[in-house]
Amino acid sequence: MSRLPVSYHPATRLHNPGAGHPERPDRIVAVLDALREPMVAARIDARQAAPATVEQLLSVHTRAHLDRLIALDARGGGPIDADTFLAPRSWESVLASAGVGLDAVTRGLDAGTAFGATRPPGHHALADRAMGFCFVNNVVVAARHAQSLGRKQVLIIDWDVHHGNGTQALVERDPSIRYVSMHQYPWYPGTGAAHERGVGNVFNVPRDPGLPRATYVRDLLAAVDQACDRWIPDLWLISAGFDSLDGDPLGGFTLEPEDLAAWTVAFRERAGKAPVVALLEGGYRIDLLAQGVQAVVAALA
Ligand SMILES: [Zn+2]
Repeated sequence: MSRLPVSYHPATRLHNPGAGHPERPDRIVAVLDALREPMVAARIDARQAAPATVEQLLSVHTRAHLDRLIALDARGGGPIDADTFLAPRSWESVLASAGVGLDAVTRGLDAGTAFGATRPPGHHALADRAMGFCFVNNVVVAARHAQSLGRKQVLIIDWDVHHGNGTQALVERDPSIRYVSMHQYPWYPGTGAAHERGVGNVFNVPRDPGLPRATYVRDLLAAVDQACDRWIPDLWLISAGFDSLDGDPLGGFTLEPEDLAAWTVAFRERAGKAPVVALLEGGYRIDLLAQGVQAVVAALA
């Protein structure tokens, strides 16, 4: 039995936006610890990724955006917005995180499934702007990488409790990528209404908090099936945010780890021979994050 490729990088723990910030180094420490538990470790092939290069990020981001981050890093860091702080060594984490996404896709194209332990998250990052704890849009960088390797059509499914405004903005004029997001609405960052359809390639599923679990499970699958109606992805990418789990302090969804596992299994069934690769996004209660990652990794393995 082949083991699930899991990509990681130790520098993903270096980014420390400050005491009390929910997007804290403990998150990735907990994820990597969860992946080291014997029952999980026996089923995965963990590999340290190479950090992304600035050139690789230019497939998605403007030179000006990256130059600003590099200059801020050279000054020792500083705030970007109320939520987003580049600390000393954060830039190493940003490049490591994007590199983890690239490596997970490279390996997933070969093996059929893969998981990338990315941090900081990416789905709020815009072409020219960091926001919402995100500096570089890992999942879109990964999607462009897959396209450069010949996977023409990429489906991105985002189950983070927040709308991936950055992902949507980066793909909404490009029919080669379809984006399906279920998120709490209205909620941070305010985008993600159902009428935001891009060029017909955006499928938003805005939902109230506190609904029955089964409603969320059903509605995201329905949107995925709509996105795949007469359109066959060459790669399925999951923006796996674990803040959609019941009890997360930054969201009000009621999902359990087994729901995320069930989605993963359902996507694999629908994907056929196309690879399914999941990248970490949010998730701010450490125990839930660890349980959620274990459930999704087991479903991918
Ligand atoms: Zn989130």
